[in-house]
Order: sequence, then structure tokens, then C-alpha cells
Amino acid sequence: MATFSQDILELSVKAEKKVEEKIREIDRIVDYNQWKVIEAFQRSKVSDFHFAGSTGYGYNDRGREVLDEVYADVFGAESALVRPHFASGTHTISTALFGVLRPGDELLYITGRPYDTLHQVIGEEGDGAGSLKDFGIRYGEVDLLEDGKVDWEGVAKAITPATKVIGIQRSRGYDWRSSFTVEEIGLMVEKVKAIKPDVIVFVDNCYGEFSEEHEPTEFGVDLMAGSLIKNPGGGIAETGGYICGKEIYVDQAANRLTAPGIGREVGAMLGTTRGMYQGLFLAPNTVGQALKGSVFASAIFEEVGFVTKPAWNEKRTDLIQAISFSGPEHLIAFVQGIQRASAVDSHVVPEPWEMPGYEHPVIMAAGTFIQGGSLELSADAPIREPYIGYMQGGLTYSHVKYGVLMALQSMKERNLL
Ligand SMILES: *Cc1c(COP(=O)(O)O)cnc(C)c1O
Repeated sequence: MATFSQDILELSVKAEKKVEEKIREIDRIVDYNQWKVIEAFQRSKVSDFHFAGSTGYGYNDRGREVLDEVYADVFGAESALVRPHFASGTHTISTALFGVLRPGDELLYITGRPYDTLHQVIGEEGDGAGSLKDFGIRYGEVDLLEDGKVDWEGVAKAITPATKVIGIQRSRGYDWRSSFTVEEIGLMVEKVKAIKPDVIVFVDNCYGEFSEEHEPTEFGVDLMAGSLIKNPGGGIAETGGYICGKEIYVDQAANRLTAPGIGREVGAMLGTTRGMYQGLFLAPNTVGQALKGSVFASAIFEEVGFVTKPAWNEKRTDLIQAISFSGPEHLIAFVQGIQRASAVDSHVVPEPWEMPGYEHPVIMAAGTFIQGGSLELSADAPIREPYIGYMQGGLTYSHVKYGVLMALQSMKERNLL
């Protein structure tokens, strides 16, 4: 195609050849998760009438109740709360944490510094108003070791009688570290419970869903949250989040989302229900498309000399592909190239800006159908050393390939390759 220069097309063929076996591996995960989701729908006898949206209080909304049941089943959890009323992943995580923590309790993150937007929820940054800290909930974190593993000596020292919740972030977020696989998270659960059996293990599962055959809640995690404009929304859900885990904790989160006494019994779904069901149905496949795209991206960027994390042949547990660029010019060309490849807003040129909740200027490519939807092909990069670009998503593998080639083309046009 004339869009791309010959050398870039040749690189593409080469990279794709290299990742063939990885692509087949992803297909097997998609089959497993697709069948798991279908069978959960079948067990709950999902019917057409469940898709109707309630109004007003939303009492007795069967579609909403069954959706919770299907999610709990898919995630191997006792209970789930799936709602369009969660405004974002941050809101969902915040609701889960405020749901179970009380004044005097402590939240301890054992996977290092959490995702940027959570710093203000915790009260570590910003004016602190309304944060966990403002409510007398203490916070601690244990940095990861040099090799990216949990510092168990540090964790053993940091856990105190006040430690109520252990926080684990599955995905790398905006950090140059490895994400934690479900198996690794299972081992973390065993270890922290050996130190303090009654601790609540919370997992921020954003970007992780359906990238492996199992989910953290199948391995003893007590409470977990994620965003519906990421993986489990399948690119169809228009907004929302989910919380799942032990019933007692999910109920507490529901009381925080609405109000004590009404909890999960209210909440009009308006017109969102069908999209949530259909999105969940499509999610395993869409996540597979995105994962294939990430593997391809990693292979081709490595081919031109950039360091990628994960490497194309490494095990994956989330959607995020990090690429380390040589400087801000490459980084910006990369993000602008991804934007140029969008079906929506391809004519817009992204520039770095100060985003609420983030500490550095961020440049984002998001030519998406759902605003900020990051199961759709998108790229973000905080403009800070060492100039790492993060890309994720892609509703179709073909689109990701197109986006990655466009990023390379943009670099080539600026004489950066
Ligand atoms: C996206 C994300 C969040 C926050 O979700 P928003 O929808 O951006 O508020 C939290 N943690 C991780 C790991 C994420 O990837």
C-alpha cells in the first residue's frame, strides 16, 4: 500500500512471521475465555428481556442482577457489582477501597507506587480533600525490588495490626516494570495471608481481564476492580466499572456507591445493559485482537532497535505494551502516528498537556468510538525521562498493525529512523 514505504512493509512481514506461534497461543486463550463467557451466560439463562434498561430507582432490574451474576461466574467470584454509575476505573477502585476501609485502618500497596490517578484517592498528592487520608485511613507502600519482584522482607516488616487491605496492581500502568501474572498474584495472596490471615487482598485488575485463562479472584483475591471502557467492556460498553470478590466486601462497596440500606438494589441502568452484556460476550475475542497487536508491535519496534516491555515472546498478562524511545521526538512521533491511523479523529494532532490526576504532561492518542476507551487502539506517554511510550488496545488486530506501521512511517518522515 502506498500509505507505507517499502522498507516498513518489509519489516511488517518479517515481524509477523516471527510472532506466528505467539499468535496461535493467543487464539487458544481466546477460545478458552470465549467458551467460559458463553457458558456463564447459559448458566444464568440470559434472555432478550434482560437487555431492557430500567428507569427511576431501578428496583428489580433483572437484567442488572443477572449481569452481576454472570460477571461473578466468569471471574470465579462470590459476587459482582457491574454498573454504568462508575465514572471510570479510578472511581471504581476508589469505591472498592472506601467500601472496606475505616478510620484507623491502613492500606498497604505491595507492588510499589500505584497508578497515577490513585495518588489523590489515597491522599498522597493534591489537597487531600475527601481522600482516604482525609478520612483517617493510613497508607503505606513497599517498593518493588530491582528485579521487579515484591520485596517480601519489606512487606513482612510493613504489615501491622492496622493493615486491613493489601493492594496489588496487576498491570504495569505507567511504570517500566513487568506486570504480575495471575499465578504470581496467587502466590502473593498465599504469602500475605500467611503473615496476616484476615487481611483483605485487593487487586486493581485494569487491563488484565481475559489476557490469561484465569483471573486473580480464582486464586484467593478477596476484592477486585476494573473498568468497562477497558477489557471487559469489549469495546461496546459505553461507560462503567465492575467490582467482584467476596460478597461481604462487594456489598460494602455497593453501599458506598449508592447508600447504606439501598446498596445494590437500586440504580437505573437506562440504556446501558445490552452493551454491557454484548461487550462481555465480545471481550475475550477483542482482548485477543489487542494482544496480537501488542505482540506484533513489540516485535517490529524491537526490529528497529527499541527496547520493548514485554518483549514479543514474553508471557503477557495485560494489554499494555511499553516501548522505550530514544527521546521526546520519537515518543511524540509514535503517539501522533497512532492517532493518524485512527478511524475516528485521524485529522487531530495530539500534543502534550497537563491532565487532571497526572503529575507530568501527557500526550495521548485516542481516536476512539468511546471517549478514552483504551480497549480501543490508544497510546499514552507522560513526557518524562526515559521517554517510554505505552500503547494498548485495538478492536481489530489489523487496525493495530496499521497503527504501528503509521507510527514508524511518522518517524521515518521526520528522519528519526
Ligand atoms: C486505567 C487504570 C486505572 C484507572 O482507570 P481510569 O479509567 O483511567 O480512571 C487504574 N489502574 C490501572 C492499572 C489502570 O490501567
